[in-house]
Amino acid sequence: MRKAEGSLYAYAIVPSADRRSHFNSDTLLLMDFRPSEEQEILRRSVREFAEAEIRPHVMEWDETQHFPMDLLPKMAQLGLMGIQLPDEYGGAGMSSVDYCICIEELARVCPAIALSVAAHNGLCSSHINMFGNDAQKARYLPRLVKGEVLGAWGLTEANAGSDAAGMRTTAARQGECWVINGSKNFITHGSIGGVMVVMAVTDRAKGNRGISAFVLEHGTQGMRAGKKEDKLGMRASDTSEVVFEDCRLPGSQMLGEEGQGFINTLQVLDAGRIGIAALSVGLAQGAYEAALRYAKERHQFGQPIGAFQAIQWKLADAATEIEAARLLTYRAAYLKDLGRRMTRESAMAKLYASETAVRVADDCVQIHGGYGFVKDYPAEKYFRDVKLLTIGEGTSEIQRLVIARQLLAQ
Ligand SMILES: Cc1cc2nc3c(=O)[nH]c(=O)nc-3n(C[C@H](O)[C@H](O)[C@H](O)COP(=O)(O)OP(=O)(O)OC[C@H]3O[C@@H](n4cnc5c(N)ncnc54)[C@H](O)[C@@H]3O)c2cc1C
Repeated sequence: MRKAEGSLYAYAIVPSADRRSHFNSDTLLLMDFRPSEEQEILRRSVREFAEAEIRPHVMEWDETQHFPMDLLPKMAQLGLMGIQLPDEYGGAGMSSVDYCICIEELARVCPAIALSVAAHNGLCSSHINMFGNDAQKARYLPRLVKGEVLGAWGLTEANAGSDAAGMRTTAARQGECWVINGSKNFITHGSIGGVMVVMAVTDRAKGNRGISAFVLEHGTQGMRAGKKEDKLGMRASDTSEVVFEDCRLPGSQMLGEEGQGFINTLQVLDAGRIGIAALSVGLAQGAYEAALRYAKERHQFGQPIGAFQAIQWKLADAATEIEAARLLTYRAAYLKDLGRRMTRESAMAKLYASETAVRVADDCVQIHGGYGFVKDYPAEKYFRDVKLLTIGEGTSEIQRLVIARQLLAQ
């Protein structure tokens, strides 16, 4: 095996023409699973940053439900505030596989910070970049990339979660303006976000095709943060309600075409789910490493608990399932980088990786015994944080529905 020439990606699949030309040679080449040198450096850099700047504060931010805004310029310097955004807006222009590496490394140390970075990049900024016009991109993306503001993205409502198209928030045309009324809940950065993308019904009679997206700034008259949620996990990441009361926006704030907001949202979520899959892989990796360390340190019956087969099997299962989840995640990211449709693959990656992370975090607590239940060890926090991953950006049930729909349509 050798590396494909010009291959940028860890899991680059050699195009079929090349595959044929190698078929009879003794250097048969089908896939290359090695990360590039740049990707190894990227992983190391984000890991070092997370260990130095995040690890020491994880429990304090968790307990106080505080999102550290002073991290933003530091993360921006590393390119983490505009990971995949184009160079012309100051973005790091990285691939989707690189994006996964960044989110994984943050989640390994603090899943809540990774969640915020994923929502900022993968939902708000990505929606503006994919569907905004030149003026909107020039106005918002550079500030998001520099970490001057955090991005928020509002789809969910109190009575419209999995069935997001059932939203009640409306945008009514008044002359050249749109007037938004309603509220969004469970919004990441709902109270601290500086720029928000929000979806609202512009023509109820048209159903899914009567929903449009808008972009607006925090402080716009008629928009305010509502209740901040007191959460089980991911506590450093702000989650709040956002209320719109006669919030008047000029027509220029519509993002994408009128009536295309929900359709565009599905595309944003296809990619966003790869980010949540990567977050799951990173969280599972962090929990696994904590469990492995503890299995070597903790002695019972005169030997390290890692000497017991019951513990070894948990560790072996965790390591294997994390690797499988990583492969599914990178495959979905790789397809995205090729510009291919990856609805099924991103849903599979999100489903498998998040459910793997739940199992690994559970076993991490089990391996720690009573010490897994107290805050002196990291196990309990992974266990609390992980549950969001089978819920946010589409529950496991909805991922299965998306996958089955794709299978049945074949
Ligand atoms: C911490 C956090 C951050 C979030 N951040 C954001 C954000 O930034 N922006 C945003 O817009 N939203 C955000 N959300 C919302 C999140 O995406 C929703 O919570 C999620 O989509 C599920 O919606 P719901 O909570 O209303 O659950 P429901 O849709 O009410 O689901 C309840 C249960 O019913 C099941 N169910 C529903 N429909 C079906 C079906 N057809 N078939 C089978 N089972 C079904 C679900 O799987 C689930 O088990 C966030 C949520 C949390 C908790």
